Amino acid sequence: MELFHELLAEIERVPAVDVHSHIRIVSPAASDLSQIALYHFITSELESAGVDPAVFEIDGAKKRLAEASAGFARIKNTTSYWCLTRILGDLYDAGAPHECDMDDLLGKVESTSSEPGWTNEVLERANVSKVFVTCDWRKALPRASEKFVPVLRVDSLVNEAHMSRTLESLTEATGQSVYEAGDLKKAVAELFRKAKEAGAVAAAASFEPQVDFEQGDRDAADRILSLVLLGQKPNRDDRKAMRSYVLDLVLQNCAEHEMPLQLMLGIKHIRSADRAITAYEPGSVAMYADLFKRHSGVSFDVFTSNDTICHELAVVARNYPNVFLSGAWWYLEFPTHIRKMLRERIEMLPMTKCCGFCSDARCVEWVYGRVKLIRRELALALAQLVQEGYLSEGAAVEVAAHYLAENPKRLYRV
Ligand SMILES: [Zn+2]
Repeated sequence: MELFHELLAEIERVPAVDVHSHIRIVSPAASDLSQIALYHFITSELESAGVDPAVFEIDGAKKRLAEASAGFARIKNTTSYWCLTRILGDLYDAGAPHECDMDDLLGKVESTSSEPGWTNEVLERANVSKVFVTCDWRKALPRASEKFVPVLRVDSLVNEAHMSRTLESLTEATGQSVYEAGDLKKAVAELFRKAKEAGAVAAAASFEPQVDFEQGDRDAADRILSLVLLGQKPNRDDRKAMRSYVLDLVLQNCAEHEMPLQLMLGIKHIRSADRAITAYEPGSVAMYADLFKRHSGVSFDVFTSNDTICHELAVVARNYPNVFLSGAWWYLEFPTHIRKMLRERIEMLPMTKCCGFCSDARCVEWVYGRVKLIRRELALALAQLVQEGYLSEGAAVEVAAHYLAENPKRLYRV
């Protein structure tokens, strides 16, 4: 354990870059305790343990927490709960959430969050230098600040490119009417121009496993657009042709503006139950490999929440200079998976190919909790490799510095 603690101390000193969050740049800190204690990783566990989801909709943070906290004791074993305990303990000097005085804590969070320096203090204590903020393409992007930088999220632009409401949103966002493929090209270019102007450092999209792409075809896009404008519903092949054309446009703009595409794979939404689970489609990584080759001028940073395709993605990143891996993300953001993923990537890939930290946080307090987890897991995985004789201690520290800071800074030019 001595080596682990030595490495952890070194890793704590590396200023980390958080490459994926859902924080609002205008209000990065939690405004009340429920935004921390009822973060969605926690509510999904509470709900799974039998807490009525209607509880999370109750008006008033105090009442909402009082009703929900009855479930805390049932999730005190999970790693999300460990993160929550670190947040409350380290930042507010509070005990474990299932034992502490919630009323007292509510007051503490409310008073600290209104302090002007609180966000910076949390990020300093987390030793996080930059936080990427995912922003939907349909709304004007907030401008980048010293600590927060926007990422242009284009999921629905690509996935729903065949829908008239998407074209209307695109016109609203860019001022460019879309009647034919040439207009679409101009509109997507304008969207990227504005994003770049706001300081966006990347584009991002999550695609479900069944979503596939082919080379975009302008004539096909023209034909399908005229169908859509006539109010007709495009068939499956046409939908594929349309999203492929738009993804190609997105990637052409990524290349032009030197913005990597964050490609997020492995989540499937079960719409009937309003749930997201992990899933994969055999052959989908090979399909993306074709995309990576066709757009070799674009850097792809691939995130996955699906264990099954982790190895396939490591193989792709090993074979394609323009493919990088980030994470752990979503359902893989738990120690067993983080450790396995880190080991595999450290063993298989040059140390310049991975970004180690994405918080998925909705407030800066969770950036703190998540970075604690990832630094610990990096130290554990690296200590194991050093003990097994595969890495020197010096190389282990270098790997951590690359994963947390050097790679995101170089890849995203921040
Ligand atoms: Zn996310």
